[in-house]
Amino acid sequence: MVLQMSKRRDDDKWGPHSHCVVCGVATPENEKYCSAVCEAKYNQEAEKYKRQQKMSYIFIGIMGVLVILMFALPYLIPGLFS
Ligand SMILES: [Zn+2]
Repeated sequence: MVLQMSKRRDDDKWGPHSHCVVCGVATPENEKYCSAVCEAKYNQEAEKYKRQQKMSYIFIGIMGVLVILMFALPYLIPGLFS
């Protein structure tokens, strides 16, 4: 009985190579992108992701401040909740 290799041996077939991180097309080894278009696309996505992450950090920060204020308010303004 011959065991079938489920993993495709791309390196044997094509030699060492990489894949474009954007569209997955085979690229020369150590090349992250197949074209300048894909590189621009990737950088755009990375920028968007970074912006979103910054926004979520700001949001978490605001939430934290609000929670602290909720707990601190009765002490800051005595008589507010009594
Ligand atoms: Zn590409």
